[in-house]
Amino acid sequence: MEIQSFLEEIVGEQYVLAEDFEKIVYSRDASIEPPILPDYVVRPRTIEEIQKIVKLINSASHRHPIHIRCSSTAYWGGGVPTKGGIILDLSRMNKIIEINEDTQCVTVEPGITFGELFAALEQKGYRIGERPESAYSACVGGHVASMGAGLGQYIFGNQGDQVTGLNVVLPDGTLLTTGSGALENTPKFTKWIFGPDLSGLFIGSEGVLGVIVEVTLKLYPLPRAMTFATFAFENIEDAIEAVYQIQRGPFSIQYLSCFEGASFVKTYPQLDWGSKAKHGIVLTIVIEGRSKEDAAIQKEEITQEAFRHRGEDLGEAFARDIFWKNRYNWAVTRTLRKGLRTIILFRVPTKKIPLFWEETRTIGDQFDLKIGRSCQARSRHFISYHPSIRYSEKTPEIWEKVKECKNALYLRFIELGGMPCRLPGQLPESITHKFKHYLLFLRRLKTCIDPNNIFSSSKIVGL
Ligand SMILES: Cc1cc2nc3c(=O)[nH]c(=O)nc-3n(C[C@H](O)[C@H](O)[C@H](O)COP(=O)(O)OP(=O)(O)OC[C@H]3O[C@@H](n4cnc5c(N)ncnc54)[C@H](O)[C@@H]3O)c2cc1C
Repeated sequence: MEIQSFLEEIVGEQYVLAEDFEKIVYSRDASIEPPILPDYVVRPRTIEEIQKIVKLINSASHRHPIHIRCSSTAYWGGGVPTKGGIILDLSRMNKIIEINEDTQCVTVEPGITFGELFAALEQKGYRIGERPESAYSACVGGHVASMGAGLGQYIFGNQGDQVTGLNVVLPDGTLLTTGSGALENTPKFTKWIFGPDLSGLFIGSEGVLGVIVEVTLKLYPLPRAMTFATFAFENIEDAIEAVYQIQRGPFSIQYLSCFEGASFVKTYPQLDWGSKAKHGIVLTIVIEGRSKEDAAIQKEEITQEAFRHRGEDLGEAFARDIFWKNRYNWAVTRTLRKGLRTIILFRVPTKKIPLFWEETRTIGDQFDLKIGRSCQARSRHFISYHPSIRYSEKTPEIWEKVKECKNALYLRFIELGGMPCRLPGQLPESITHKFKHYLLFLRRLKTCIDPNNIFSSSKIVGL
């Protein structure tokens, strides 16, 4: 029997897509990689169906690589084919399994979008700790599998820190439960049990070690009070010195970013920006408090810190009415309307940001490309630096130039002491050999867990 018939037998005929016009939407994500059509797209509804698919693919006669996909909003080519293969589309697995008020945890299927989850939790007075700015379309499974970052991370930690347990279909088709849920009658309230952190093996694994089919996350009460502020600084050095001092303080920061002011001034001419913002850096901050008074005290202390570093107070309006109100579609409307972008994500010790900022400009000039510079404090201990190269799809010849520029940035940032948050499959050897021993160990793990290499290799370099 043809593989298509086997797949149809497992999930039903209408959930196997084999026509080009159906597959074309699965040929790309938000990355710069050119589109590649999969051989088939399969849209399972249950864990059992996934187990059957995985066992089928593992049998010697049907070894197509499997590419797991939730919403495919990632920037690194993770959920799209490299050379044909099967896309496992998890968007039908989008239910909330349990909101457990005793353990203050929520268990969901991987294909639920954050937007859907927020709506259900808010009705009960809850939220989850960390939320991507792509929340209306990105899924929980995709975010955990790609170790996403986002709003709330400064207070609660990243998405991996929120996980208290996972269910994963392994490459041989067996189901593994990580965390305290590994015991049948024990709720999924902590990922820390005896032995090493097995949830951690799959958090950030980009779909190369198995299919995450259930995720349990910590719940938190909705915030009681928020305050908002925006400051302008003449240069990145002053802005980052203020950020560093703020990071040392006892603040509950939902969001803190530095952008080049010029881009804001052009996009929002209705606001009163002043000359520092026009030529310098705009720092936007959202603070959460235990009460209105607490939020106000935090804001006052932060404002004094900004003033000590020559910051100018631009008021609350931008942070509150433009950014926060639109926080889950702001990135889409602000960035994508200017054309496509490829984004480079690095974690950097705060004090080094001015150096990275300057080097980005130098490399952009070398390639004659416009690179937008911005960074966010997502922890007390470092900054997420994510310059983005803008380009137009109308001129595909520019893609090669953008890739070369991206590689030059990776190389330089690694030399300067930054750490990439993603190591996409397409990076050249000159970069990957810097992670030689680390990657060697990951490769050994991959061979142990997935000896037939059925889960899309080459999503993380070398796997
Ligand atoms: C405008 C915009 C704003 C964004 N803002 C943010 C942001 O604030 N923070 C952030 O982190 N990212 C952001 N992103 C990137 C992206 O939205 C996130 O990384 C998102 O979490 C990816 O989720 P997804 O459902 O689209 O995953 P996909 O793109 O479908 O998958 C991502 C990776 O995980 C693997 N995978 C997916 N599901 C599973 C599973 N169930 N089991 C195993 N492997 C799996 C895939 O193979 C792939 O390698 C943004 C993107 C855009 C376009």
